[in-house]
Amino acid sequence: NPVPTLTLNDGHTIPQLGFGVFKVDPNETLRIVSDALEVGYRHIDTAAIYGNEAGVGDALANSGIARSELFVTTKLWNDRQGTQSAFDAFDESLEKLGLEYVDLYLIHWPAPANDKYVEAWKALEKIRESGRARSIGVSNFLVPHLERLLAETDVVPAVNQIELHPAHQQPEVTAFARANGIQIEAWGPLGQGKYPLFDEPAVAGAAAAHGKSPAQVVIRWHLQLGNIVFPKSDKRSRMAENFDVFDFELSAPELAAITALESAGRVSAHPDEVN
Ligand code: NAD
Repeated sequence: NPVPTLTLNDGHTIPQLGFGVFKVDPNETLRIVSDALEVGYRHIDTAAIYGNEAGVGDALANSGIARSELFVTTKLWNDRQGTQSAFDAFDESLEKLGLEYVDLYLIHWPAPANDKYVEAWKALEKIRESGRARSIGVSNFLVPHLERLLAETDVVPAVNQIELHPAHQQPEVTAFARANGIQIEAWGPLGQGKYPLFDEPAVAGAAAAHGKSPAQVVIRWHLQLGNIVFPKSDKRSRMAENFDVFDFELSAPELAAITALESAGRVSAHPDEVN
């Protein structure tokens, strides 16, 4: 398997390239995740709110791939933040996935208006202690949210999964996370197709120069910057394309030209406004 692994701050390793299943139809999840596993993906990113954990679990079970070779992430939805509610939500996710443990369990959004994410994090610390989540982390956390966790709880999140693509790079939160040993997972790594990223000369030019596709160039940009990514596609040909990114390397000027595409354009809501 060509995918490099990164080491998390708790000593566990994570495949740097995975497959995300946001908006994957629950009725098609078995087929789509089975295709992804056949293509070679071993890291699957799902969430309770995606409604497709059962399909992910079916695909994992059908694959016959050893559990130790798989890396599975799921996430606690906002309305389950709290202590007992987080324990219950986690049990439900494990049950749907048909797993004895997940590799990574995340708080999906800080939802600061509810002021429950510190309590939820303490519940995740307990879940980690039980061994049923090997690693725990957060998603969509901004610097003030991370600062509060660092000040008020014991375990530093292993990752922060944030919207990150060339048009929206979140340099403050990324720098803060890296300085504190928190790996960055980039969601929407291709900008969810909502930006004409692939037509940008910096991307299209590098693609032509290397004989690769624009999507492969953007994925390569993430990998070379140290981001963990799990691009999503329902199409097996694109799954294979997005996985075929280990036979070329972008030069420093090519990376810089893509980084210069920052335009502070997020595809999703501001994390302070999601409840
Ligand atoms: P993405 O940037 O991976 O974009 C997916 C879209 O890009 C696809 O629907 C497809 O239209 C297009 N695409 C994929 N491969 C392509 C290719 N080779 N060529 C051309 N177009 C291609 O967006 P995403 O799915 O939102 O993000 C990836 C994963 O991140 C999700 O599946 C999910 O696991 C995670 N995520 C997490 C959060 C969060 O709040 N934590 C939010 C959104 C997504």
